[in-house]
Amino acid sequence: ATPTSIMVGTGRGAEMGVLFRKGEALQLLKETRVVALDKTGTLTEGKPALTDFDLATDFERTDVLKKVAAVEALSEHPIARAITEAAASEGLNIPDVSNFTSVTGYGVEAVVSNNKVQVGADRFMEKLGLDVSVFANTASRLADEGKTPLYAAVGNRLAAIIAVADPIKDTTPEAIRALHDLGLKVAMITGDNQRTAKAIARRLGIDEVVAEVLPDGKVNAVKRLKALGRLAYVGDGINDAPALAEADVGLAIGTGTDVAIEAADVVLMSGSLKGIPNAIALSQETIRNIR
Ligand code: ADP
Ligand code: MG
Repeated sequence: ATPTSIMVGTGRGAEMGVLFRKGEALQLLKETRVVALDKTGTLTEGKPALTDFDLATDFERTDVLKKVAAVEALSEHPIARAITEAAASEGLNIPDVSNFTSVTGYGVEAVVSNNKVQVGADRFMEKLGLDVSVFANTASRLADEGKTPLYAAVGNRLAAIIAVADPIKDTTPEAIRALHDLGLKVAMITGDNQRTAKAIARRLGIDEVVAEVLPDGKVNAVKRLKALGRLAYVGDGINDAPALAEADVGLAIGTGTDVAIEAADVVLMSGSLKGIPNAIALSQETIRNIR
């Protein structure tokens, strides 16, 4: 490609809100065969809301919600905000906590009113030696609805199943369709529950799902998917940075974290994923015009 055509292409990208941090990306994108996307904050808004809260026998709703919200108040995960906002909207008094720890990919724990309180995924409860099978049917139903089931333990006993739902961005279905129209394979890579991820993928017509990956697992998933062809990875979070760097082309969401943007070759200035097929089409046109 000539420097002039790259300049023109880069300029046209900027007009449609696609910022090329590296000119090379404009040339590479046309070779893309697979687009892998992070779920939370990329395919979805990244703003989950609390939808369900079911108690185990002998537990009281207000007491458990207060304690769970107290622990989540110290977490930066989007799930945490869903829970603290629900507690706030009910006007609950949030108790003080001590000994807060966040177990990446699992959940959070702290001591609240002399009780150890843990909140997180099923694998977190398993790690704690707690049996979640009383909620098996509920959990499956919630996940099939595209919600993320979480569990709360209070005083080393399973206290509640909680669900949060993160809306799919309005522009996502059209963006996925456009990628398919370009003949590309579309994959989702997420730390979220397998069944939840599958339900959302089914809704969007996504071809491949890699779920329940721990942060460094995203890089391994990208390496594996690269076997299918040139790969573009799209993400917004700190834990997407290594995958963005590993991909042939990394695209970050402009509203995402600085760490993701720094690791990316292309920045989608608005949150809309329509920038992905637009950027690939632009790459095809730019390179075609040169020949
Ligand atoms: P992702 O960003 O894709 O959700 P994470 O590794 O951050 O990936 O989290 C994986 C899973 O761990 C979450 O889906 C959730 O089940 C659990 N988890 C993490 N942080 C929290 C938290 N603050 N509260 C409850 N669950 C959490
Ligand atoms: Mg994300």
